[in-house]
Amino acid sequence: MADQIVLRNVTKIFTTKTLGDITAVDNFNISVHEGECFSFLGPSGCGKSTTLRMIAGFEDLTAGEIELCGKLVSSSSKKLYIPPEERGLGMVFQAFAVWPHMTVFDNVAFPLAIKKVNKSEIKERVAQALKHTSLTGLEGVYPGELSGGQQQRIALARAIVTNPKVMLLDEPLSNLDPKLRETMRFEIKALQKKFGFTIIFVTHDQSEAMAISDRMMVCDMGKIMQIDTPENLYNHPNSRFVHNFLGESTFINVEVKGDKVYPKGSNQELKISIPKGVKGKMVVATRPNEIELTTSSEDGFRTHIEKRIFLTDRTEYLVPVGDQMVKIQTPHRIRFNAQDECYVKFIEPIWYPEDDEAAVAERNKRQLI
Ligand code: ADP
Repeated sequence: MADQIVLRNVTKIFTTKTLGDITAVDNFNISVHEGECFSFLGPSGCGKSTTLRMIAGFEDLTAGEIELCGKLVSSSSKKLYIPPEERGLGMVFQAFAVWPHMTVFDNVAFPLAIKKVNKSEIKERVAQALKHTSLTGLEGVYPGELSGGQQQRIALARAIVTNPKVMLLDEPLSNLDPKLRETMRFEIKALQKKFGFTIIFVTHDQSEAMAISDRMMVCDMGKIMQIDTPENLYNHPNSRFVHNFLGESTFINVEVKGDKVYPKGSNQELKISIPKGVKGKMVVATRPNEIELTTSSEDGFRTHIEKRIFLTDRTEYLVPVGDQMVKIQTPHRIRFNAQDECYVKFIEPIWYPEDDEAAVAERNKRQLI
């Protein structure tokens, strides 16, 4: 598969008055394949939008270069910046960027009108774009008279009308209610299948990214943490950050003394196997549905049920392990009551080093901006 969007050593540094230099994007190397849906995922301030803006051509690069469909479009060393309108991209942003004083037809026709496409072709192509976004019949209506979902469809129709090879979507669904978000996800995928464009999808919502992406990049504080398929990222995270960011997890601080593991605040051994070379203070991570709750003492950690919470499709228990509270989810048939004695077993936990204080300080600084 050909690489359609290539970022080579792309860096962006913003100089701010109060906080000095902020490396918003630190040496990003990304190759997005033709026809792929590729998400940028990460918490606020991690550099997603800046990366997208550089691809779109709204932002210059402090270092590195960007290639779109085999053509160099940005290069800091060559001082080359092809303007956004010449990059052949479709774009949809979070705010419904539709013009309120123009009808649906005129909104969608706009990119063709500025390219001086002839009137009959405009009519034909707008009709097609409206058909594919379920807006046929609303040509003469003004966006203000339509729902949020319909307004975002106008933005989608306007993006596909030019037949772009690459579509940049920046949190396009975040102003919609949850049900509509789900429907629109399917619609975007269906449009992609029909037109065959490559998508870059920016979101801070992990379940949305998981549902829509072929591959995702998870980033944090201007750095790429991991790039892989949703399934691999979930099952084989390469860091505590990625583990924590995708799905729920329980992290327990432990100390490895010799061949035994003790949870913080307890003298009772936690019977889990220790990877080679691991010692001292560590963190073990397990998903809530991978912790077994039993009445059997064999290999279990003895504790009690602190709280039982009945959720619609499962039961959740809060159980102290040392001085930490662990969340366990079970099918309803596994039944304990508050204060019952129980044993917990951690199934194949993943080990990480303890928190790095410098990283915590850097995150706090960024959240101030
Ligand atoms: P995200 O889209 O992941 O929320 P951004 O790409 O918007 O993150 O921002 C990344 C970092 O760059 C943040 O620390 C942000 O404050 C900073 N930043 C973004 N734009 C500017 C700007 N124009 N001037 C200064 N700092 C900026």
